Amino acid sequence: MILILVLLIVLAVILILRPWKQRGCRWRQDTRKLADGRVLFTCAACGAETALPKGREPRDCLAGEMK
Ligand SMILES: [Zn+2]
Repeated sequence: MILILVLLIVLAVILILRPWKQRGCRWRQDTRKLADGRVLFTCAACGAETALPKGREPRDCLAGEMK
């Protein structure tokens, strides 16, 4: 019974924290500017790319979504 409880807690922690989402993502603003005024960000850790409106910075690592 205790084992099931521990498993549930571990599962909840994994689902809430999602440790694979933030494994040292280092976003760098790319000097290239997109046509519609957004700024391109490139992750130095995993190579993911994302475009955001000017003044915003990405928080999450996109490593898991590139596959
Ligand atoms: Zn990354």
